Amino acid sequence: MDAAVKPTNLSQQWIDCQNPATGAELGRVPVCGPAEVQLAVQRAHAAQQRWGQSSFRQRRAVLGHILDHILDHTDELVAAIVEDSGKTWENAILGEIMTVCNKIRWLMKNAEKHLRTEAVPSGILLHKRGRIEYRPLGVVACIVPWNYPFQNIFGSLLAPLMAGNAVIVKASEAVAWSTTRFQRILDQALQQEGFSADTVQIINGYGETGAALVRSNVQKILFIGSVPNGRRIISGSAEQLVPTVMELGGKDPLIVCDDASLEQAVHSAIGGCFINLGQNCVSSERILVQEGMYRDFVTAVQDLAASLRQGVPEKPGQVDVGAITSPLQIRVIDELVSDALAHGATALVGGQLPEQTHGNYYPPTILTDVTPDMRIAREEVFGPVMLIMRFKDDEEAIRIANGTAFGLHSSIFSRNRPRAEKIAAALQAGASCINDFGMCYLNQDLPFGGVKQSGFGRMNGRDGLRAYTNAKAVLSDRFWFQIPPKLYPVGPQDYARARSSIRLLFARRWRDRVGALFGLIRLSLRGAAKTGETR
Ligand code: NAD
Repeated sequence: MDAAVKPTNLSQQWIDCQNPATGAELGRVPVCGPAEVQLAVQRAHAAQQRWGQSSFRQRRAVLGHILDHILDHTDELVAAIVEDSGKTWENAILGEIMTVCNKIRWLMKNAEKHLRTEAVPSGILLHKRGRIEYRPLGVVACIVPWNYPFQNIFGSLLAPLMAGNAVIVKASEAVAWSTTRFQRILDQALQQEGFSADTVQIINGYGETGAALVRSNVQKILFIGSVPNGRRIISGSAEQLVPTVMELGGKDPLIVCDDASLEQAVHSAIGGCFINLGQNCVSSERILVQEGMYRDFVTAVQDLAASLRQGVPEKPGQVDVGAITSPLQIRVIDELVSDALAHGATALVGGQLPEQTHGNYYPPTILTDVTPDMRIAREEVFGPVMLIMRFKDDEEAIRIANGTAFGLHSSIFSRNRPRAEKIAAALQAGASCINDFGMCYLNQDLPFGGVKQSGFGRMNGRDGLRAYTNAKAVLSDRFWFQIPPKLYPVGPQDYARARSSIRLLFARRWRDRVGALFGLIRLSLRGAAKTGETR
């Protein structure tokens, strides 16, 4: 067992679920213990035998049923997401439902193109044909966080499923309540096409359940979560040499140059910091504003942030921002903001825990006078905090932007395209958006992932799909006759023949190649003469 798993989790058999916006009890969900995890993996392997043989048409049909179900039950699903996470109806429908529908449509349209067997040139093996077959791996484990209860689960499982794998998703303990409803979508879609519901299983539990899954018989692990738990998963997976994709935290910079459109930069920064109350891996965690724009920018964001309505999202259109999903996260946010204030930062908006008895709330907050050495400028907040820093020139902006251990996403605002492109090229990040924030995820053709401590491997796009396959190399005969590879016993001319052949194939000058060809002919004639003498 993972020594790093919190001991408080070990004896828990149930997850008590609450609505983070109201504190209301939702009910209990059973924890999947280590023995049950092993059973789930066994069942998944059995189901994968058939699923792995399915045609792309059948896989598309299953995805189509999932899509139909989502579209036919959108309001009900959104209500479940809102209740479980405390987020707004608008964030649930755009950030969760739309993103999953977009992913399904992309996979239905593109998966076969990227996964069908590919012929490749045969290189120097002229008598052979080469091809790559994208074979399923077996069972893929996805361990996911709480910030997007629906999209983290479906966004993770769809690509490995489409690639022919069975999938087990370990959902976050903070949003376990809605998983039963989500499992029903998958069960029905698979069964409608005659496949076993064991092909995709969502399991619940704390870190211990995730740790048991990591050490079970799975062939790949997608982990979306924090850096410390990412390290634990890598050390667990190393025992069995199971490959991982790591989608970890971020501290994304959003750079506002003095030639940017103020309105565009302000609205994007507000979105980048306060959408889903900042509980986004690609939140704009650091806003860097050039001196010439600084005063106008700060005034505009201050007014907008102060006007955001926060509260219980009972129905659509009621509040702009909801609650923090995980009560543990409130402590992280509060600690980092308090530390910044103690070290000279100024809270223009928010900055204090509300005196509230029900629900997990932290108000939209704007901090100025933040310096790059403060903890809040280096550590992930994962909450509704806009921290603003000034810069003089592009060089300084790039230095500050690259000055953390993270490298997930980044944004640059400027009307000068070459300037924005130049800054983007210098940023150490998995993605750069010019004149926008965190939108790369919506283009499913783009790979999604990070560098440095933000992780490795990619979700989305061709690479994110092929990541769940064994790119198997196959070499077959080009001609009907066989060319026997006679290597032994080694003959007296073999070495010289190999040397001339290598020159013939690879020499850069024609003269050398022609010389090598004559050398080969000479060697053959000599060999033939010798054979004649011995006769
Ligand atoms: P977390 O690391 O606490 O938990 C993530 C998942 O890992 C949960 O399901 C949890 O139960 C499980 N887990 C915990 N300990 C484990 C262990 N020892 N072995 C196996 N599994 C274990 O993260 P969180 O608090 O749920 O989510 C917030 C973090 O996720 C932030 O850092 C955020 O940036 C990151 N995140 C990253 C992306 C991305 O795509 N890069 C997306 C969303 C969130």
